[in-house]
Amino acid sequence: MRKLQMVFSFCIAASAVMAQSTDSAMFKRIADDVFTNSTGYENLRILCKKVGPRLSGSPQAAAAVQETYKMMKAMGADTVYLQECMVPHWVRGAKESALLVDAKGKTFSLNICALGNSVGTGKQGIKAEVIEVRSFKELEQLGVAGVKGKIVFYNFPMNPTNVETFRSYGEAGQFRGRGPSMAAKYGAVGAMVRSLASNIDDYPHTGTTTYNDSFPKIPAIAVSTRHAEYISAELKKNKTMQLYFRTECEMLPDVKSHNVIAEIRGTELPNEVITVGGHLDSWDLAEGAHDDGAGCIQSMEIIRVYKKLGIKPKRTIRVVMFMNEENGLRGGRKYAEVAATEKDKKFIFALESDAGGFTPRAFGFTAEAPVLTKLRNWAPLFKPYGVYEFADGGGGADIGPLRPLGTTLSGLRPDSQRYFDHHHAANDTFEMVSKRELELGAINMVLLLYVVDQYGL
Ligand SMILES: [Zn+2]
Repeated sequence: MRKLQMVFSFCIAASAVMAQSTDSAMFKRIADDVFTNSTGYENLRILCKKVGPRLSGSPQAAAAVQETYKMMKAMGADTVYLQECMVPHWVRGAKESALLVDAKGKTFSLNICALGNSVGTGKQGIKAEVIEVRSFKELEQLGVAGVKGKIVFYNFPMNPTNVETFRSYGEAGQFRGRGPSMAAKYGAVGAMVRSLASNIDDYPHTGTTTYNDSFPKIPAIAVSTRHAEYISAELKKNKTMQLYFRTECEMLPDVKSHNVIAEIRGTELPNEVITVGGHLDSWDLAEGAHDDGAGCIQSMEIIRVYKKLGIKPKRTIRVVMFMNEENGLRGGRKYAEVAATEKDKKFIFALESDAGGFTPRAFGFTAEAPVLTKLRNWAPLFKPYGVYEFADGGGGADIGPLRPLGTTLSGLRPDSQRYFDHHHAANDTFEMVSKRELELGAINMVLLLYVVDQYGL
């Protein structure tokens, strides 16, 4: 019995080694083809330069739907279709302006932008005393007496000591998200947040704010990190400074938009669906190259390379260009809502790339322990391609809603050191993406999808 068991486990180990060596040969074929023949970088150029900023509800977002539909058709997907979803339609309006005004009436012009989904001030703008806080606790201590009628300035820098910049983003992000409504709770007339940028720069970085319906909706802006430092220094010299700002943004009624979905049908287990995607919408201030044009382009690479190399997946591969991640997540929610009604299908795995087109370093997974163990057995195969870690925890905003269906989630984790130099700011442009880094990310994504498809979870 014992001897038999030993022979048996030897056989398993041997077949695993065999599988690994055929897999690594296939990995090499895939990687070589992407490095040699990928059209991804040129497609990213189209998305960034021909289409441009793709805020939900904008004509460019609609154009991006058409362009990516054409791209995935041209790659030879078995089917490409649009999935309708309603999206918020927020518009920035005329370029914003802001002035810091000292007691003598001397003014200093600030680099600002309205926060996404914010109400505007109207053409006349607002002017009030500005008060700086570094925490919600400080705000609470000031209370109505210290805040009423003023503009609250949240000056909370992204913590530079975290190697993982997303951690610092999460910590500082609460002020952009909840800050304006918290300030309104104490009677503030406006809110300004320090931009969520890793370094001192001149760009205001936009992003969504979320109003709490219990309080008045007050206009909210982001100021560049350099000017946040400036205002803070001025306030130390002169306790009473006024801030004037004008924003003409507004929320219009929802409009119809789409996710774009391409499929390669599975040959053996077509009802098991593997989803991969990025989000097609971007902020309006930039081309959305890293966020998230790169992720969209990387996701569709599997169609091109599978067709080119004649790889037929066992399971169905679905590539999804999600709409409206930035200011509503309606596309991600719609995809999961429809998936929940597809009772004949099992959504076994979903992968998202939405952390920039930089050099890939790792994958993060949200999975049950045995699944994570299985995934980790494949990790050594990825080392030659620069992915060194299969980490516990990860996914993406758009695929998150699939989790209740039991889907294993995964997110590509590229190097994050430069991401917040560009994130949601005017310098998130095509020129900032390296062709090789973009392709290396795409390669690792195809490789991960390949093993999941071959062996299941
Ligand atoms: Zn994004």
